[in-house]
Amino acid sequence: MSWTRKPWTTKEWKKRREELLKTNNKCEWCGSTEYLTIDHLHNFDALGTWNMASGRFFGSYFVNGKHQEELDQIRKEEGIIPKFTDRCWKCGKSGLIKRKQKKPPFRCSKCGWEGEKTSKTLGKMKYRFKGIIMKSLLKVHKPKINLIYESMKKSQNETYMKFEEVLVLCRRCAYARLKGNVLCKVCESNYHKPKFEMCWGCFS
Ligand SMILES: [Zn+2]
Ligand SMILES: [Zn+2]
Ligand SMILES: [Zn+2]
Repeated sequence: MSWTRKPWTTKEWKKRREELLKTNNKCEWCGSTEYLTIDHLHNFDALGTWNMASGRFFGSYFVNGKHQEELDQIRKEEGIIPKFTDRCWKCGKSGLIKRKQKKPPFRCSKCGWEGEKTSKTLGKMKYRFKGIIMKSLLKVHKPKINLIYESMKKSQNETYMKFEEVLVLCRRCAYARLKGNVLCKVCESNYHKPKFEMCWGCFS
C-alpha cells in the first residue's frame, strides 16, 4: 500500500473508524458519547522523515572511515578542511580524548571500553560547510535516501491505517485539543493550556 495523501478519505479508513467506534464509544477526555471523532496522535511529517532517512543513510555510509575518498574529493573541490569525531567502538559515545600518559590511549567513560584506535565518524563542522557537503552528496545519493524515505513513509502510513495511535474524542474536546488545550480535571467541563493545573474558573 502506498501513501495516500488523505488516508481519512479512503473507504478502508472509514470502515476501520466504524469498527473502532463500536468498542471505543465514548470521548476519552470527558466521557461524552456524542459526535465522536478520531484524532491521530502522529501525522506524517515529510521533512522530519526525510532528515531521518538521510541521517540513517549517511550514518552507516561513512562509519569508521568508509567512503572517505568521496568526502575528500568534495573537500578538495570546495576547499573544506575535514573534521572527525572520535567515538567508542562499543557504545558509540562521541568525543573520546586521547590520554597522554596512559596506555592504551583511549578509554570510554560511559562503558569502559579501552583501545588504541577510536571509531571515527564525520564530526561537527560549520553549518555552512555541512550544507555544501550535503549538497554535493545528495547529487549522488538522493535515490538511495529516497528508497529509505519511501519505506519509512510506508510504515508510517500503515501505523496510521491501523489506528494504533489514536484518540477518540467528542467534537468539543477534539476542537479544544486542536487549539492546544486539555480538559480540566477538576470541573471536567472547561479547558485550559497544559502548563496550568486547572481551568481559570476552578483556579479562581
Ligand atoms: Zn469530550
Ligand atoms: Zn563506550
Ligand atoms: Zn475547571
